[in-house]
Amino acid sequence: PFDVLVVGGGPAGAAAAIYAARKGIRTGVAAERFGGQVLDTMAIENFISVPHTEGPKLAAALEQHVREYDVDVMNLQRATGLVPAREPGGLVEVTLENGATLKSKTVILSTGARWRQMGVPGEDQYRNKGVAYCPHCDGPLFKGKRVAVIGGGNSGVEAAIDLAGIVAHVTLVEFDDKLRADEVLQRKLRSLSNVDIVLSGQTTEVLGDGQKVTGLSYKDRVGGDLHRVELEGVFVQIGLLPNTEWLKGTLELSPRGEIVIDDRGATSLPGVFAAGDATTVPYKQIVIAMGAGSTAALGAFDHLIRHSAP
Ligand code: FAD
Repeated sequence: PFDVLVVGGGPAGAAAAIYAARKGIRTGVAAERFGGQVLDTMAIENFISVPHTEGPKLAAALEQHVREYDVDVMNLQRATGLVPAREPGGLVEVTLENGATLKSKTVILSTGARWRQMGVPGEDQYRNKGVAYCPHCDGPLFKGKRVAVIGGGNSGVEAAIDLAGIVAHVTLVEFDDKLRADEVLQRKLRSLSNVDIVLSGQTTEVLGDGQKVTGLSYKDRVGGDLHRVELEGVFVQIGLLPNTEWLKGTLELSPRGEIVIDDRGATSLPGVFAAGDATTVPYKQIVIAMGAGSTAALGAFDHLIRHSAP
């Protein structure tokens, strides 16, 4: 069995694996797609000490760094179940889609998350070419330009306020007939002179010239007419879904499905830790996921030295 088995190979999982392996303990990583969301990213400009990199390059560097150590990397492996230890200090089991079972004294869950998509024409085609999901990451790329934010919940309204300070103009489009964000955020949003708010707006298409985004069309759900806005960017803020469906019923999840962790990365199950976008950690970012992965690995190591037979 492993001492530490990491499930997920994004920034959180890679950091956890390196921190665990550096303790000289048996470490494995099972990942559906090593690199995680980073693989889907183009420019990364907030990975501190690296002013500019690209997703696939960072993903390759993550894997290369992990492979510097004696880590059993199991790529293209999807976990489908978690079986808690039968007795205190016992082995935790992770079942894989291929039918195999991996056993470990501790497990670190770092299966990340995915942005909910609008599912309209143009969204996929112009992803990273004007269609963005992360204002902290991509906001500065739209300095002085016009953007839309899709979604009027807390994350959409926060994004619109954030972007309004960087870009020339923001159009916020909400499907419902009212914003769902906290009142204090709504008040702040309404005070901004370069923001238009569209309610009852159903996005129908992201428009482009073949290379990049040039506009957005939406339907007025009350009057039924179609509108077109000329702009350069669309930030989709309709939800971040944690990849934790396979864990339902085995450990504590938040109402949003995030794995509930404490400040050492421990979950509600003894010996099971978690890190990164799949958890309740506030703010989902690469550097934050890496820090959290390191925390979870040190938490797991601490657990091992307290609970393993000498
Ligand atoms: P992820 O990167 O999501 O990795 C999850 C891992 O778990 C993957 O290996 C996945 O295959 C695996 N996995 C999932 N389910 C299972 C399963 N059942 N069994 C086995 N493995 C599984 N952040 C920044 O800091 N700067 C940026 O510029 C930036 N730009 C972004 C641009 C885009 C388009 C996107 C989508 C995100 C961006 N982010 C950016 C956010 C950043 O990518 C995430 O915060 C970060 O990758 C989270 O790391 P993670 O390890 O928690 O999860």
